[in-house]
Amino acid sequence: MRESIYLDHAATTPVHPRVVEAMYPYLTQVYGNPSSVHSFGRESRQALEKARDQIAGLIEANPQELVFTSGGTEADNMAIIGGALAQRERGRHIITSSIEHHAVLHACEYLEKNGFEVTYLPADKTGMVRVEDLKHAVRSDTILVSIMYGNNEVGTIQPIEEMGRFLQERGIVFHTDAVQTLGVLPISVKELPVDMLSISAHKINGPKGVGALYLGKKVPFTPHLHGGSQERKRRAGTENLASIIGFAEAASIAQEEMPERIAKYQQMRQTMLSCFDEAGIPYQVNGHSEKYLPHILNVSFPDVKTETMLMNLDLEGIAAASGSACTSGSLELSHVLKAMCLDEPVAQSAIRFSFGITNTVEEAERAARKVVEIVHRLKR
Ligand SMILES: *Cc1c(COP(=O)(O)O)cnc(C)c1O
Repeated sequence: MRESIYLDHAATTPVHPRVVEAMYPYLTQVYGNPSSVHSFGRESRQALEKARDQIAGLIEANPQELVFTSGGTEADNMAIIGGALAQRERGRHIITSSIEHHAVLHACEYLEKNGFEVTYLPADKTGMVRVEDLKHAVRSDTILVSIMYGNNEVGTIQPIEEMGRFLQERGIVFHTDAVQTLGVLPISVKELPVDMLSISAHKINGPKGVGALYLGKKVPFTPHLHGGSQERKRRAGTENLASIIGFAEAASIAQEEMPERIAKYQQMRQTMLSCFDEAGIPYQVNGHSEKYLPHILNVSFPDVKTETMLMNLDLEGIAAASGSACTSGSLELSHVLKAMCLDEPVAQSAIRFSFGITNTVEEAERAARKVVEIVHRLKR
């Protein structure tokens, strides 16, 4: 049997065996509702708060400032819609960038339909949003800014420290989507000048359908789920305990293994690029040459269109992507590549390889060799 190679970890990752193991008792034995006052409930509550402490500790947040959600999408929506609604009397202007995940972009579009005004900052050819552009876009009625930490399509790390410092001085609430950054870059909300930060479990070998929003204590916020008083009245609904336990376990493992993971991803990246160099095929790396997430490698092979390359790789059992999981499947050019204003042959041949913990350097080499074969074959 041919061995398939999964290089689409920016879309989602397999659940770590230790995570499954950690979750199991919370699906079978510890089933009390954390809000119940009897012993069953108390046991669940204790586990929930331990998981909260663990995840908060990893991003140096106060546990009370961590709100569990159903994933990155909900965390982004909560931050943007909840942050905007709470400040609507102060102003109606929001700033984001044109390279954000759809969870941010579509939440902003929803607000536009409801009386808010949104400025979408451009990105340069490396996928970087300029601090200067942000400074120029800020107005007296700007209430919220959302700029992602690391981009999920090309991996470019945004200058959020500089942006945050500028916004902090002006008292403007700053949210960052750190879903792709968690696990590959140390994150400290104590050091980062951010008010809100989104994370998700399934991008770091945790289960799907669970994430969290770091929500600073003093940040104006209006909840969007109404019901029970869970999560300190910021997000109603019985907590997804087993998944939250899994999230905490995945985050802890990621923290432990971070240096080795980064080193391996760099090696995989280098191996693939060396392979392309040796074969002498035309290619271009999309993104920033220094400020990039180590697990994301976006490359264009101008001789072969994205869809053709993906289809041929898939026939060989190699899973890569055109950009975000949400845009693949459609033939439309990704909004991120569009925003980067790449030359057409480059934009229309971009492939995202994203590495994960189960990958090996040998797999990266095999995948790169296949790419070379496909380029040679289809060019002929
Ligand atoms: C995957 C992803 C999301 C969405 O997270 P879900 O948990 O899948 O809802 C948001 N932002 C970025 C940058 C992502 O990569």
